[in-house]
Amino acid sequence: MKTLEKYSFGIGDRFTRQGEAQLRAIIRANKNGIPLVPVWNKSNREHQIVKTVPSDTWKEALSATKKLGYNGNWYVDADHINMQNVERYMDHSNFFTIDVADAIGAECDEDEWREIFESLLPFAGNLSIPGIEETFEVSKDALEGTVKKFYPAIKEAALIYRSISDVRGADNYVAEISMDEVEDPQTPPELFFILLMIRKFEIPVQTIAPKFTGRFNKGVDYVGDVEQFRKEFEQDLMVIDHLVKSFDLPANLKLSVHSGSDKFSIYPVIGELIRKHDKGIHIKTAGTTWLEEVIGLSLAGTEGLEMVKSFYRKAYERMEELCTPYATVIDIDPDKLPTPAEVEGWSSELFSNTLRHIPGHPDYDPMFRQLIHVGYKVAAEAGDAYLDMLEKHSEIVGEQVEENIYDRHIMRLFG
Ligand SMILES: [Zn+2]
Repeated sequence: MKTLEKYSFGIGDRFTRQGEAQLRAIIRANKNGIPLVPVWNKSNREHQIVKTVPSDTWKEALSATKKLGYNGNWYVDADHINMQNVERYMDHSNFFTIDVADAIGAECDEDEWREIFESLLPFAGNLSIPGIEETFEVSKDALEGTVKKFYPAIKEAALIYRSISDVRGADNYVAEISMDEVEDPQTPPELFFILLMIRKFEIPVQTIAPKFTGRFNKGVDYVGDVEQFRKEFEQDLMVIDHLVKSFDLPANLKLSVHSGSDKFSIYPVIGELIRKHDKGIHIKTAGTTWLEEVIGLSLAGTEGLEMVKSFYRKAYERMEELCTPYATVIDIDPDKLPTPAEVEGWSSELFSNTLRHIPGHPDYDPMFRQLIHVGYKVAAEAGDAYLDMLEKHSEIVGEQVEENIYDRHIMRLFG
């Protein structure tokens, strides 16, 4: 397995035009003493909607690194892949996010999971983890429930891991396992057993993306109990620390936070805890670079503003269709959205301030932002008209992209 750096930042780019602007933010961080590496992530769903292929993302990253003379390591993440779609990513990714959320709780024969269950039985009773004050009571029945629930997912992860390794060679990529797209968060003791099962299957995983407590909606701030998040996140760090030290898990194994863009209220908490315990982190953003493109165009004079207003009108009319694939990760109340007729009268300034995520800004509207976030299909359908507009106004668009990643994200975490 390739060794992923301690700090890595996932940058999504739906239309593959902002590679350089994104990389400029990373280079700025590096110059300021923050050793971040970039990971371009794009899911199969995004590729299908935008009609791009994995090699487009690879080419974008390669071209950006060459043009800017970037000498550090960089990655292209086959994001949320599974057995059905991994094949098309093999040649153009060096980071694979193996998504096994759907296999959690799947049917499984007892003779399959029983052996692992028995090997974990010594941990039943009072589970105590160094660095965590409380002890977790894990009854035999509870342990059996945890094993039955997660065993099918880890078995699936192993299958996908081996199939990637067969093609690429195990040393030529980074593997992440994700379970974040589910309703219930995984508790720290569950994470403990999940990681021990991953070890049993000999998957040298570099990052793990659990479902954390609270809501991680796309493109907007965290919604939930920040103190509860703090407690669980710190306990997760301690679980990993213990397993690395005492059970030979990969030394640089770290947590991955998905839909991590815009979660401004937990950034200081994450930053504080990874510094306190000297741990790494992978933050994966949710393709919000597209929103910065819209902001940039709204500021680019009449033609840009007209175009993004028309995107909003179409997204508003097709709300149900656009929101359905993202139903579990957005919260939009249609009654609270401005009507397209209202938006029609907005200035560049009002449009951009309504969309740009500045917490506490009087014009900022998270409903408006979420609808445009899922509305990228409308821009994809505009095809070259949209891409040409981006090209024409690449300077102001690029400034928005860079500022968003550097000032609003990286600085909140590491500043
Ligand atoms: Zn995810």
